[in-house]
Amino acid sequence: MSDPVHTCPAPDGCNFTTDEISELTAHINTEHAGEYTDPRWPDTPAGRASRAADGGDEDDQGGTDE
Ligand SMILES: [Zn+2]
Repeated sequence: MSDPVHTCPAPDGCNFTTDEISELTAHINTEHAGEYTDPRWPDTPAGRASRAADGGDEDDQGGTDE
């Protein structure tokens, strides 16, 4: 069995990878704070987790569209 590798979803070419989703979330929170609101940012579990941790005061769509 091989662990899944999570790659940083940042659209600016970041090549951070980890097999711990929590590490990826932490990386995003520290290295890409605020970037995940960029419309280019892919819709990923880590991105959603980061947005959820951000306070939820933004006018975000529920994710059931598209
Ligand atoms: Zn990154």
